[in-house]
Amino acid sequence: MLGLMQEPPLNISSIIRHAARHHAAAEVVSRTVEGATHRTTYAEIEARARQLAGALRSLGIGAGDRVATLAWNGHRHLELYYAVSGMGAICHTINPRLSGDDITYIAAHAADAVLFADTSFAPLVAAAAPGLRATLRAVVFMTERAHMPDIVLPEGMDLLCYEEIVAAAAPLAAWPELDERSAASLCYTSGTTGRPKGVLYSHRSTLLHALASNMKDVFGLGAADRFLPVVPMFHVNAWGSPYSAPMSGASLIMPGRHLDGASLADMMNAERVTCSAGVPTVWLGLLQHLRASGKRLETVERLIIGGSACPPMLMRAFGDEYGIRVDHAWGMTEMSPIGTYNMPKSSNAALPPDAAFRLREKQGRVMYGVDMRIVNDDGAELPWDGATSGHLQVKGANVCSAYLGDAPGSALDAEGWFATGDVATVDAEGYMEITDRSKDVVKSGGEWISTVQLENIAVGHPDVAEAAVIAARHPKWDERPLLIVVARAGVTVDLASLRAFFDGKVAKWWQPDDIVVVDELPHTATGKIQKMALRDRFRDHLMPPAV
Ligand code: AMP
Repeated sequence: MLGLMQEPPLNISSIIRHAARHHAAAEVVSRTVEGATHRTTYAEIEARARQLAGALRSLGIGAGDRVATLAWNGHRHLELYYAVSGMGAICHTINPRLSGDDITYIAAHAADAVLFADTSFAPLVAAAAPGLRATLRAVVFMTERAHMPDIVLPEGMDLLCYEEIVAAAAPLAAWPELDERSAASLCYTSGTTGRPKGVLYSHRSTLLHALASNMKDVFGLGAADRFLPVVPMFHVNAWGSPYSAPMSGASLIMPGRHLDGASLADMMNAERVTCSAGVPTVWLGLLQHLRASGKRLETVERLIIGGSACPPMLMRAFGDEYGIRVDHAWGMTEMSPIGTYNMPKSSNAALPPDAAFRLREKQGRVMYGVDMRIVNDDGAELPWDGATSGHLQVKGANVCSAYLGDAPGSALDAEGWFATGDVATVDAEGYMEITDRSKDVVKSGGEWISTVQLENIAVGHPDVAEAAVIAARHPKWDERPLLIVVARAGVTVDLASLRAFFDGKVAKWWQPDDIVVVDELPHTATGKIQKMALRDRFRDHLMPPAV
């Protein structure tokens, strides 16, 4: 017997409709590319998104077509999120920090029909457009006529102004009902090896991810929150916050392109931000600014950290010096992106302070809708003892099953598990801790050494600004850890003190064999350290010189 309940399809438009009706006055505040602060509400965003959807129709966009964006976090980007997927098309957010070559590759691979861009990306657009003649019909700059950049596009490709096409359009009277399994948005992995790969989210996966991430032990946003996503809307949909915030009635404070410590602190205080999310580098920048300026964050209660491992010193510094809780989260593009979030259980309440802090350092427990396991090289499941590390696999409603263009299910093993490429431990209570990337872990004499743990120790040393540990080839042990560091501004790294800094923190045989000081470390488009490039350069650093 079937149930007798209503079955509205899980469509993304339901989120903005709900926000417009029940949180009409909740704000969306944006720092625009031109520098001004723009204020609007969910009611206006919904109305303008319907109008923008009308404009997209008159540009010939229909169901399943790809509409690309090259844009910072701002109100127009939010309107695009809802207009494009709401009308049945697919919003393809492109990461502007990718190389020009990669941008042309993914826009062509996705067969993007129209590209919406912030004016600050005009040079990128001009460079990429000739390579996109086959599919790209128009470029729309997300601004008013007065600020339109003066660029030349290939013949037959229109150059349009966002505010003009919105003003001229007839709005959709209502959002269409779509099959909840239809594709809604597209994001390419940053691909440290090979070409970027497209992850295609559905309406259903996006809705379920937003609902689960709004649970109390995850992002848990509420109508009293004012949330500032530092994580860009071009990187895994700003961790889903453009959906989870309006769903809960939280206001969205959009920082635009200035993500340095001073700009963020100013905006957080001016806009009474309660919660924010970003990668560790951003929070290191904010911490340095607060310490140097003597400023405080007046309303921020919580900072969410993910994207790479949270250095423990960051958690301690914000907690002890500023009374701000730092929560550790883990996820990936292929998971929409949230996988785990770290919140204590009632059974952890009696832990002594040091053990409680140690627990908070882990990446956390899975949110509802995600399952995980760790396996050895042969695929056998490993115990949850907090010590044994293995390859981390996931499955669930917000996990990718195949990359765009690949055969259905081709990203999964025979039992439906997706290999994350991360190496982790899981403890008896289900707290997961990333110890490495599968391809980064150091295999010394058959034993695994966590590069993440060594890096966390190194960045806790007062002379070190940034650190990376790589597996360097070794004549006896196959691989040994090599530490590569960047000194803090104006400081010379005291190598003896840095070496001694590992004593008592890890086993003697885990300690780096050597330390190299460099001026800077190479980063990917999403801010992660490019270990491949470091391995290429330093792989043979510990090998005897060839004779
Ligand atoms: P991306 O798809 O670009 O978001 O990258 C996902 C990868 O970033 C994961 O597979 C992890 O290797 C890494 N990552 C994300 N969050 C964390 C975290 N909290 N700690 C350690 N690594 C992380």
